[in-house]
Amino acid sequence: MPFLGKMSGSARAKAPTYERYITGPVERFDERDNVFARADLFRYFGEGSEERRRYYAEHPELRAYDERTAGLPGLGRFAGAHEWAYAIPFEFCRDIASERFVDGEPSDTRAEVTPEEAARLVRRRGRELGADLVGAGPLKESWVYSRVGRSFGNAPGFEPWGKPVDLSRHQHAVTMAFRMDHDLTRAAPEFPTVVATALAYAASAWVAVRLASYIRSLGYSARAHHVYNYRVLVVPVAVDCGLGELSRAGFLLTREFGLGQRLSVVTTELPLAHDEPIDIGVRSFCERCLICAENCPSGAIPLGDRTEHIGVMKWKLDAEKCYRYWHAVGTDCAICMSTCPWTRPHTWLHRAMSRLAAVSGPHQTLMVWGAKLLYGGARRPASRRAPGMESLRPTRLDAHMRAMGVALCALLALAVWAAVDVARTGTISLGGAIPPGAAIQLGAASDALWWTWAGWTLLGVAVAWTFAAEREPRASLLSALFFGVLSALGVLALFAVAS
Ligand code: SF4
Ligand code: SF4
Repeated sequence: MPFLGKMSGSARAKAPTYERYITGPVERFDERDNVFARADLFRYFGEGSEERRRYYAEHPELRAYDERTAGLPGLGRFAGAHEWAYAIPFEFCRDIASERFVDGEPSDTRAEVTPEEAARLVRRRGRELGADLVGAGPLKESWVYSRVGRSFGNAPGFEPWGKPVDLSRHQHAVTMAFRMDHDLTRAAPEFPTVVATALAYAASAWVAVRLASYIRSLGYSARAHHVYNYRVLVVPVAVDCGLGELSRAGFLLTREFGLGQRLSVVTTELPLAHDEPIDIGVRSFCERCLICAENCPSGAIPLGDRTEHIGVMKWKLDAEKCYRYWHAVGTDCAICMSTCPWTRPHTWLHRAMSRLAAVSGPHQTLMVWGAKLLYGGARRPASRRAPGMESLRPTRLDAHMRAMGVALCALLALAVWAAVDVARTGTISLGGAIPPGAAIQLGAASDALWWTWAGWTLLGVAVAWTFAAEREPRASLLSALFFGVLSALGVLALFAVAS
């Protein structure tokens, strides 16, 4: 099983859940066709370059979109004085993306390890280096790009644009997930979200390079794949490694972080025991939930059924629409990520809810309604004058949250006090604060009922407190209201029984 620490417990599946949707032979994807590689044709290759000429001779239908997009202002333009916060991590990713960092010769001396030992070693090293989730699985040829698409204009040290990709020497993959900062991504689509992306990518790049180097030191060939030098489609590889499932939004969805992570991969010849893929109910949850699609400002996420793409039935993200919106807003948007009900801080409440959500069934529909009610409707469109990092400093909202925390703690103390009273004296006198004549005599209601009431009240306080700590005022107030009303009705019913 993947090294997930306390986060483990996912439902293991015999085969990756996407396999049920494979309609025929899966064609390898040509990296040159993705929107970033096409943008590179304008950014790094000259007007009359052979690469540009060749590409649009084969894909004349894409030229108009690509030319229009290339003329748009870039990402980060609203960052102001905080530009460094995302620019430096991305520069770092580029600095360690050339072949001499991601690949190399293995050591002459080969360590003799069993596949199980090797998998354990690699997982432990990945975690030590900073990965939040690590899984090992097979490297399937279908998920290897057919040709190189990103090379910074054939910069020295990078494999040239259009070169066929051959990873046949590697049969195994290690996928690592890096949690994105929740406070930054919840600002989506404003500027802080792109900082979260950059930081997670930088961590994922650094750890992948270090892990590949570690495996080579054991005497086995290994190559890192990270944001500026992927040779594989990371999402299906991550699914094969048992980290999560493919979602409607087109990203990997994990039970731990929802859509809120970035991925890197190490492919290797080191024989590794594979983790089993998981089934956490994402297919059926995404069928019932349209939150990301309803909130997507560009309409890039399909509201309808899966469609066939390179031999797989899937919800196909319209990358062109999405990418154009990035340019409009000046960030990588991430509204889908931040509105997905699975993308929540890793609190006890989220863990409990994600366990329930991972079981396919009609209750998932109720959970979607609950998420809409608790977290509110559509996100506002970006202001186009995105706030800087100062938006994350304590605000009046934080002050309100603190006040609510104090109030909830007071409620908690009262509930505990009342429960102790009940247990000790059979009355609620709050340690004598209520005069003996006015003390509530409980008599007829059983202790079990009182403890149930106290437990319910405590659960309500804990839920409302957790939402407050997550800075979700609406969810905190609604849950306090829900538990509070039922708690008050419960206590009235118990008094009625007692009298
Ligand atoms: S990043 Fe924004 S535009 Fe792109 S799919 Fe997600 S919500 Fe839509
Ligand atoms: S928002 Fe809903 S539909 Fe979209 S990925 Fe998350 S669970 Fe699936």
